[in-house]
Amino acid sequence: MGKCPDCMKEYREHKKKWKYGKFDVEAYTCECGTNFRDYSLEGKHNFTLKKNKNTKGWRK
Ligand SMILES: [Zn+2]
Repeated sequence: MGKCPDCMKEYREHKKKWKYGKFDVEAYTCECGTNFRDYSLEGKHNFTLKKNKNTKGWRK
């Protein structure tokens, strides 16, 4: 489950999931236009990166 860092809407289903080193990454696209990626370490949420039309590239 992921929560949009911009509008706080919660999503049950991620769009994509993959491994990044020790992290599990879940990617979401929010209806507000923000893309965000949740990084989890050993099943616990660790940090979120986001990207929207106002930012270039991925930011915390
Ligand atoms: Zn949003």
